[in-house]
Amino acid sequence: MPAEYDIIIIGAGPGGLAAGLYAARARRKTLLIEKNITGGQIALTAVVENYPGIPEINGFDLGQAMQQQAEKYGMETAYATVSAIEPQEDRRHLVRTNEGDYLARAVIITSGADYNRLGVPGEERLTGFGVSYCATCDAAFFKDMEVAVVGGGDAAMDEGLFVTRYASKVHVIHRRDQLRASAVLQERAFANPKMHFIWNTVVEEVKGESAVESLRLRNVVTGEESELPVSAVFIFIGQTPNTSFLEGLVEMDEGKHIIVNAWMETSRPGIFAAGDVRDSSARQVVTSAGDGATAAIRADHYVTDTFKVA
Ligand SMILES: Cc1cc2nc3c(=O)[nH]c(=O)nc-3n(C[C@H](O)[C@H](O)[C@H](O)COP(=O)(O)OP(=O)(O)OC[C@H]3O[C@@H](n4cnc5c(N)ncnc54)[C@H](O)[C@@H]3O)c2cc1C
Repeated sequence: MPAEYDIIIIGAGPGGLAAGLYAARARRKTLLIEKNITGGQIALTAVVENYPGIPEINGFDLGQAMQQQAEKYGMETAYATVSAIEPQEDRRHLVRTNEGDYLARAVIITSGADYNRLGVPGEERLTGFGVSYCATCDAAFFKDMEVAVVGGGDAAMDEGLFVTRYASKVHVIHRRDQLRASAVLQERAFANPKMHFIWNTVVEEVKGESAVESLRLRNVVTGEESELPVSAVFIFIGQTPNTSFLEGLVEMDEGKHIIVNAWMETSRPGIFAAGDVRDSSARQVVTSAGDGATAAIRADHYVTDTFKVA
């Protein structure tokens, strides 16, 4: 028989870790399932400066602290990939993973989002050899070298600025003629002498034998092609919510984010969603944590009402 829990949480980012803290403190038997590393996206972020009460903290450390805090109250953690959630006749849900199955009275989905790929030749082959989706992890390998950043949003500017701590020059390649990033990040990016902007341009190919050597670029206005010699390319062109294992189970929007109400309830009773995986999320640590807390409080009430337990 699969092990049984009151509340199972899928994904150990800030949303899942906050949900775990609240569920465990409500004295619910709580399991958090994570397929990768604790902390989710924030685990790869060098500095978090906007979590209230903590002026500055390394993202990995913040994730570890959140996990320890929740485990102190009894939350268990399992490292596995959830492949499906199957509703049972008795209103529980079977949570299937590559390491075995679990039964839950309520499920909270906090599976977040993954980085989008460019989908150009050379990108996949050279991932880990100059193609990166995490400047915090890889920037130090490119000290005093010229590198590129692709994208024009917050992540591209945030990570691009981080890369300037190591690289001699950071070429920001953006397909439009202006950035989408917040005003503060734009100001910082434009003020940084190492940042060089290449507008209206897309990457057509990542070139290199055993590591990135250059990028083939195309100007989307003139159609002109050019080659940019760089030792690395950091790609930040958005994310896709991790919801493929939930197809047909809960309602989603066009972008495959899970639709929830203000209590983080999905279209299916007993299943809640919180953080970056939900629709209309502000996609921040603090908002994901807030969502997670809300979902856990509601899931606790749901377990009480539905299964007639205290
Ligand atoms: C580079 C970068 C810098 C950022 N900086 C800041 C910042 O300074 N301040 C801020 O507030 N926000 C920042 N953010 C945003 C913030 O990190 C996210 O909003 C937040 O991490 C979202 O939390 P989450 O719990 O919803 O999801 P995530 O952090 O995405 O966590 C989801 C977790 O679910 C796991 N998972 C997914 N699918 C499965 C499955 N099938 N089975 C098991 N586990 C699964 C994933 O491995 C992951 O660990 C930054 C983001 C990035 C990318």
